[in-house]
Amino acid sequence: MAGAEIKVYGANWCPDCRRAKRFLADQRVPFEWHDIEQEPEGAEVVREHNGGNNVIPTIVFPDGTHLLEPTNEELAEKLGLQRSAMMHVYDLVVAGGGPTGLTTSIYAARENLQTLIIDSKGLGGQAGVTERLDNYPGFPHGIRGAELADRIVEQAQRYGVEMLQAVSVTGISSDGGEVDVETATGDHYHARAALVATGSTYRRTNVPGEDDLIGAGIHFCATCDGPFYKGSSELLVLGGGNSGLEEGLFLTQFTDKVTILERGPALKASKLLQDKVRQHKKMKVRTNREVQEFRAKEDGSGKLGAVIALNRETGETKEYKPAACFVFIGLDPNTAFLGGNVELDAGRFVVTNAGYQTTVPGVFAAGDVRAGSTKQLASAVGEGAAAAIAIRQYLDEKDRG
Ligand SMILES: Cc1cc2nc3c(=O)[nH]c(=O)nc-3n(C[C@H](O)[C@H](O)[C@H](O)COP(=O)(O)OP(=O)(O)OC[C@H]3O[C@@H](n4cnc5c(N)ncnc54)[C@H](O)[C@@H]3O)c2cc1C
Repeated sequence: MAGAEIKVYGANWCPDCRRAKRFLADQRVPFEWHDIEQEPEGAEVVREHNGGNNVIPTIVFPDGTHLLEPTNEELAEKLGLQRSAMMHVYDLVVAGGGPTGLTTSIYAARENLQTLIIDSKGLGGQAGVTERLDNYPGFPHGIRGAELADRIVEQAQRYGVEMLQAVSVTGISSDGGEVDVETATGDHYHARAALVATGSTYRRTNVPGEDDLIGAGIHFCATCDGPFYKGSSELLVLGGGNSGLEEGLFLTQFTDKVTILERGPALKASKLLQDKVRQHKKMKVRTNREVQEFRAKEDGSGKLGAVIALNRETGETKEYKPAACFVFIGLDPNTAFLGGNVELDAGRFVVTNAGYQTTVPGVFAAGDVRAGSTKQLASAVGEGAAAAIAIRQYLDEKDRG
């Protein structure tokens, strides 16, 4: 279905509208948002479809049909998303269709392993929702994240990888011989091996303005996006832990001043890092500062214009006008679905040996979800390839008995 003309009518306060918008965005389906409280014509469309009543969200599709307050399952069905696989037994099932899982699948399918990828959102992972990638080799002028993701998905399709999206993996277990992968749709897939490539999620502030400005002045990776701000006068860093301070020091090469805002009364980073930061003439530290809002520039560019922070000691608010704001308030690996089955480290990342094997026979892990990984696209792709080779060796050994 051509997604460009899907129109979502609703209101900002409506949780079901937010859920439907998030679902479409997660599947990377473009849509137009119409706030019926701001647009009288939008309110009129809603009433037309609902016998004069205001039922939101009302979602109108390019084929002229519409859905009222749809569940995610109803939306998935309408979008034609495949949510159950064609078979129940595979050589390899991959949980997570980001760059890692897709790369492993390409390698595996090229070697004639029957491969199924299952992703809870849209295929492409974090790369698919990244505005621009400038440090991925082979693209001297950078590439849009969505374009790179589409290319990798197309390559996997070419080799016959079967892919499900909008389906969460809810459990992985092994009896030592076969791996059982369970999904939120109630399906069980049996495989000779499974790969956990479910990545991790950067913690967000969840304050107003954040969703709209991610990639447009709000960032979660200094290595990836810091160079865009070369020559700027100020960058803001949220978070006074080790990541915030390390990344803040890294950012000083691009800007005149880096200001760290920490919500608590003291920095949490190591003493060594704190000393380095305090001695650095470009760095300023402000504790007890809580960000309350991100505002876009008033010039209509859609870029970050201001960051509003509360001083929790004095109760005063201050408006910062940095060129960009980097958020380092934590990274949560997507491992809750593994329960206690697979060994995790203290940060809940999956522990593997040098051959990407977890503590469960036949279950491998690679990419951002793996303990010790570097959280970069090139390394995710590299780990995906290396894991595929390790899985092939494991299966060969199993076949030899
Ligand atoms: C905003 C942003 C900008 C970035 N910019 C750059 C950059 O410029 N350069 C760079 O090198 N790196 C960048 N990165 C990092 C890079 O995108 C990641 O390192 C890379 O995508 C990791 O790949 P992955 O496949 O391991 O994990 P992910 O890309 O996170 O993919 C994991 C997939 O697993 C799925 N999943 C999660 N839980 C489940 C479940 N229970 N069941 C099924 N599926 C599940 C998710 O929906 C997701 O699609 C950026 C990251 C972000 C967030």
